[in-house]
Amino acid sequence: MRTRASGENEQRGNLIVLSAPSGTGKTTLARRLVASVPRLRVSVSYTTRPRRRDEQAGSDYHFVDRDTFADMAEHDDFLEWAEIYGHLYGTGRQATGEILAGGFDLLLVIDVQGAEWVRKRDPRALFIFLLPPDYQALLQRLRRRGTESSGTEAERLLVAGDEIRAWKEYDFLIVNDDLETSLAAAEAVIVADRQRRNRMETVAEEIAATFPGAGTVNPDSSRSPE
Ligand code: 5GP
Repeated sequence: MRTRASGENEQRGNLIVLSAPSGTGKTTLARRLVASVPRLRVSVSYTTRPRRRDEQAGSDYHFVDRDTFADMAEHDDFLEWAEIYGHLYGTGRQATGEILAGGFDLLLVIDVQGAEWVRKRDPRALFIFLLPPDYQALLQRLRRRGTESSGTEAERLLVAGDEIRAWKEYDFLIVNDDLETSLAAAEAVIVADRQRRNRMETVAEEIAATFPGAGTVNPDSSRSPE
């Protein structure tokens, strides 16, 4: 049953930004989150980066060439975009708008530049940063993944050092030591954020309006005089 009081109302959804240095496990966490949290979708970004062996066009990324990307940017088709490791990455505006209008929250798995952009424009957005347990752990995870050439891997580790310092700008920090623990923490954060007063205002007002004499009683007048 859908109960409006639990936050399942017809309101527009919220943006949830998830950032982390490359290799921290944010893609896996994002996939698990959309499977476990109701009314949550993950945004499929556009990128000019070549497709990796294990990736699927349309579900991991929309893979496009630089001309197509530039054309889209010129037509204001991106909510945000950034150049990362020499490739372009962007969040499509149309699909994003449709998902939010449908009342779903939308998870953007984007870098710290993209997060900064969203922060300036959407005061309601929720920002989660995933940290690796330490540098060595990140190094090992990147090597185990084995999707990058050694040059790209070195570049990603270098950028990771800069990215990690952006944690101060985020609302919630999760250290991804154990995936199940991180998942439970991220679920709790997303679910709790939905119960914030500013997201529940319409629902609360509607409930209050069903009470007889709504709006006529001054709460202070019912107190006995001291
Ligand atoms: P990867 O090449 O490893 O898939 O992603 C590299 C970086 O680009 C990651 O930090 C990822 O979160 C980020 N990224 C992916 N899509 C977008 C996007 O649409 N916008 C921005 N700003 N960053 C993105």
